[in-house]
Amino acid sequence: MPLRAKVATSVSKTAAALSRAAGRGDGSVIGGWLGLKIDPDLLAHLASGRAVALISGTNGKTTTTRLAAAAVSHIGRVATNSFGANMPTGHTSALAKAGTTPFAVLEVDEHYLARVIDATNPRVVALLNLSRDQLDRAKEVAMMAQLWRDALAGHPEVRVVANADDPMVVWAAEGSGQQVTWFSAGQRWHDDSFVCPQSGHPIERGNGDWWCTGCPLRRPRPHWRVEDEGVVDSRGDWHLVKLQLPGQVNLGNAATALAVAAEFGVRPIEALPHLATVASVAGRYAQVDRDGRNVRLLLAKNPASWLEAFDMAEQAPTLLSVNARDPDGLDTSWLYDVNFAPLRDRPVLITGDRALDLAVRLEVNGVPFRHVRTFDEAIQAVPPGRLEVIANYTAFQDIRAELDRVN
Ligand SMILES: [Zn+2]
Repeated sequence: MPLRAKVATSVSKTAAALSRAAGRGDGSVIGGWLGLKIDPDLLAHLASGRAVALISGTNGKTTTTRLAAAAVSHIGRVATNSFGANMPTGHTSALAKAGTTPFAVLEVDEHYLARVIDATNPRVVALLNLSRDQLDRAKEVAMMAQLWRDALAGHPEVRVVANADDPMVVWAAEGSGQQVTWFSAGQRWHDDSFVCPQSGHPIERGNGDWWCTGCPLRRPRPHWRVEDEGVVDSRGDWHLVKLQLPGQVNLGNAATALAVAAEFGVRPIEALPHLATVASVAGRYAQVDRDGRNVRLLLAKNPASWLEAFDMAEQAPTLLSVNARDPDGLDTSWLYDVNFAPLRDRPVLITGDRALDLAVRLEVNGVPFRHVRTFDEAIQAVPPGRLEVIANYTAFQDIRAELDRVN
């Protein structure tokens, strides 16, 4: 590495360590930021010599990155941004901290994918999905798809692993001219892809298939897919997948991780035991026992991920918490994009800064609920046994902090 990059790496690591010591988070943002100030090419220097996989999409990227990193670790040490710092500052810090490793698996914020592809010259880019996220600042879904398409077009050497079930992703990946490995993880959110990004015609769906009614864009045949409790690989072999992470959506994330690992030469039979070791991801899915209640934390940050959380949750008392602080986005009108009806069959409690917004939504949706002011009140309001907690970003952090305080 050039001297400037060495100095920048050292400063970056020191700053991150200082930030951690001061109790100000894991320090990956400040460390990476300083490093990039000293050497704007630091990320490129740190990435060179590593085989890199980048994983991007609106939903599931933190978990898929965690699973893919676990799978690739079968063949060597893997640098990864496991705390979800998914912008170039976070990548820089993660690679600086990891030291020399043969592999890196990085979660990338969808807005930064082009920049990070340019900097890291990845072997594999995995594209998971595109849906609406924070309404008051997110780019239109179709604009993101265009950005991805352009980002890949300049890199014919990259192997693309992409979701066959998402028309926006397929259009972005197909335009690139690369060889694409398609996966089907089972996508239930369709409201952001009614219209073909190529021709503007309606997209029709049926029998797990989709096609544009006005141009040749249609669902490619997936090489990897979820089937029953397992995954069918690109050779047609079925593998039972045992995970500690709940729900059909994580089986889909596992299928994606296996497809990514295969690009590094890791076979499913080698990867699967590593996937089974992942118990929680940055606090998500974590289970905490409190006063005889087994509390499980599920993060839901946008309409698509709320549907996934309902799928993961057991039919047990459920606490919903919604905030609308800066990291959550200030606009809560997305609540009306989520159908809460699946919760009608269980006791529902609500809390959070925007519990009132949630209350109105549930009322309209015909879901009975009870409001609680604190997490403790929720615990006392349910019988011993499982309590599922579904919360959006800062609400999730609040509840985690409260659980950490007592445990
Ligand atoms: Zn079309």
